[in-house]
Amino acid sequence: MMFPQEFILFSAFYLLGAFFIVVPPHEIRAAGFSIEYLFCNYLGNEMRDFVGYQIRRTSLNILIHSLLPIGYYFSGVLCTDYFYKYLTETAVFYWAAYVSCSLLIALYGVICFVKYSVRCHALHPLAISLRHQAAGSTSHSESSLSLNTAASASASSRNPGSSNNSSSQNRQGRGRNNSTGISWTLAANAVNAEMLQERDKFCSGPHNCRIFVTSNWLMQASIYTVNIVHKSDIHLVLTAKQELDFTTESRFAEEWVTVEVHSINGTVKPFHIRLRSQEYHELRERLSAPVVNARNIVLKQSISERFVAAFKAGLAENDKFLTYSSSGRRCATLVDQCIGCNVNLSDVKLVKGCSVPDCGNCFCRPMWCAVCLSKWFSARQDQNNPQVWLEGHAPCPTCRTKFCIADVSFIDDPVLNSDE
Ligand SMILES: [Zn+2]
Ligand SMILES: [Zn+2]
Ligand SMILES: [Zn+2]
Repeated sequence: MMFPQEFILFSAFYLLGAFFIVVPPHEIRAAGFSIEYLFCNYLGNEMRDFVGYQIRRTSLNILIHSLLPIGYYFSGVLCTDYFYKYLTETAVFYWAAYVSCSLLIALYGVICFVKYSVRCHALHPLAISLRHQAAGSTSHSESSLSLNTAASASASSRNPGSSNNSSSQNRQGRGRNNSTGISWTLAANAVNAEMLQERDKFCSGPHNCRIFVTSNWLMQASIYTVNIVHKSDIHLVLTAKQELDFTTESRFAEEWVTVEVHSINGTVKPFHIRLRSQEYHELRERLSAPVVNARNIVLKQSISERFVAAFKAGLAENDKFLTYSSSGRRCATLVDQCIGCNVNLSDVKLVKGCSVPDCGNCFCRPMWCAVCLSKWFSARQDQNNPQVWLEGHAPCPTCRTKFCIADVSFIDDPVLNSDE
């Protein structure tokens, strides 16, 4: 079967175009040629109605992508003369097979799109999964509480003046009236409220597979699927690690990990999330769920963990903070629990130990542990230059007096103040 040059060129362009539609690179998205941008009126605002947006986005992706194969045939007929001049008998047979398959794929896409759009999206896999979770949570009083409080927070937070909000609420309100028992919109409203309100939510991952973590939910939005699970209902399994030697994006050695997310109640099918190991450390801090590391995968320390170690090593070189009783004898320093982590004793005190005039004298009582103070310190440094963090300055968390690492002393004998 021979193809004329013109048709090969057309095929190459079509393939490239189709690839850009399915996985648009950053440049194409920035230029506004992505499905998300072109159909933004249909999709709505992602942050205001996260669940609805994801349902519409995945449905639309399935529809448009399923039309690409048959689109190839029809645009080939329109744009080239291959089908009029060069078609051989065997080629006719192959093209008939191709067209039938493409039509089946397109039919599947259209059926999915219609099915997911009717009854206020109640048949979309995400809506079904959320309904199961809402149903599961009513039998688990604790998580049902968090669903309800978050949902009522979402209702009270909605701005009555915004038409976009009220329309999405109506849409979902109608979904509540259907006969499928417990409504998925309860869970959807809770997710939407957290996505809208929480400014420090965890966001990570490439454009086509993003991960979000809010106070109660872990979410993953990929091209065709969206997974949303309640954080109290998951356990994680670290399944793989991949090291990339060099990268143009980051100066740090790239290490990617794959984590399998399982639902304890079985309400959500297991799914994989893939992220950089630095982000994985951050993710773990956000999730209370245990991580099973059955394969004993060893990960490099995160920048913040490495800095904590360096910070503590720096502190060990400073003089210790000592307390004396009225009779002049050395005694234990009564301290409270660290107000940052509420776990460790407050074991550091700011005492000016450097000769830099910028640093001041802090008279605050010890309130932080070394780990939390080092995190406070590193968060106030130039995030792109971790190598100079140890030489940096930060304000005292309470009185704002400037301090450097030479001004932080370990307390010699901290003892929990049990009077309170
Ligand atoms: Zn602490
Ligand atoms: Zn202070
Ligand atoms: Zn200093």
